[in-house]
Amino acid sequence: MTMEMKPELKIDETFYKVKEVRKLTDEAFSLRLPKSRFKYHAGQHISLGIQGDYQSREYSIYSGENDECLEVLVKEVKDGYFTPKLSKLKPGDLVEVSGPFGKFKIDEKKVADHKFVFIASGTGIAPFRSMVRTYPNLDYLLIHGVRYGVEAYDKHEYAADRHILCTSGDKTGQVHGRLTKCLKSTGFEKGTQFYLCGNSNMIFDALEILKDKGFERDQIHCEVYF
Ligand SMILES: Cc1cc2nc3c(=O)[nH]c(=O)nc-3n(C[C@H](O)[C@H](O)[C@H](O)COP(=O)(O)OP(=O)(O)OC[C@H]3O[C@@H](n4cnc5c(N)ncnc54)[C@H](O)[C@@H]3O)c2cc1C
Repeated sequence: MTMEMKPELKIDETFYKVKEVRKLTDEAFSLRLPKSRFKYHAGQHISLGIQGDYQSREYSIYSGENDECLEVLVKEVKDGYFTPKLSKLKPGDLVEVSGPFGKFKIDEKKVADHKFVFIASGTGIAPFRSMVRTYPNLDYLLIHGVRYGVEAYDKHEYAADRHILCTSGDKTGQVHGRLTKCLKSTGFEKGTQFYLCGNSNMIFDALEILKDKGFERDQIHCEVYF
C-alpha cells in the first residue's frame, strides 16, 4: 500500500512589498502581500515585522490557501506598540514575514462528514475566513462576537445562514450581547468540531460552556491572541 505524503511546508523568512491596504473600519484594515513562494494551511499564522524595527507580532492568515495574495487582518490597538506602525504602511513599503506557524488547522479527513463551529471574538475571525475560502463545501457555522456591527469584517462573504453576529455595544447583530450568550442557547450535534479564536477571556468562557454541554476537549481547538 502506498501512502500519499504531503510535502512538509518550509518555514520562510523574507521581506515582502505591501501590495494593498484595505480599510475595513476606522481601526481595522487588511494588508495584502504578494504570495510568491509562500505556502500555508488555512488557520496558521505568520510573524510580521517592519523594516527597520526590532519587534514583530503574530497575525493569523486571512486569505485562503488558493488566493492570489497573502492577507492579514489587523485591528489597531491605540496604545499598542506595533499596530499604530502597521496602520501607517502604504503600498510599496516592506514588511518581514516569517512562518507559517501553528497547528490551528482543519483536519482534512473530517471536512466531508463533520460539522464545524467557528467561534471568534473581534479579529479572531481571521483564520476562519481562511478556512471558509479554502474549503468551499465546509459545513460550518460562524459565531462572531464584536462590540459594534461595523466590526463584522467582510460579512458578505459568509452565507447568511452560517453566520451569527453577536454585538454587545449596539443592536445590529442577530444576537444582542456577547457570543457566550449565543453559545449557551444553541444546540450542536455530537461530533461537531469546535474552533475558538480571539481573546483569552472569551476562550475560557466558551470552553466552560462547551464542557457543560458535554463536548470533549479533543473536539475543541483554540488559538489565543492575547
Ligand atoms: C497566534 C496569534 C495570532 C494573532 N492574530 C491576530 C490577527 O489576525 N489580527 C490582530 O489584529 N491581532 C492578532 N494577534 C494579536 C497581535 O499579535 C498583537 O498582539 C496585536 O496586533 C497588538 O499589537 P500591538 O503591538 O499594537 O499591542 P501591544 O503593545 O503588544 O499590546 C497592547 C495590549 O493590547 C491588547 N491587544 C492585543 N491584541 C488586541 C486586539 N486584537 N484587540 C484589542 N486589544 C488587543 C493586549 O491586551 C495587549 O496587552 C494575534 C496573536 C497571536 C498570538
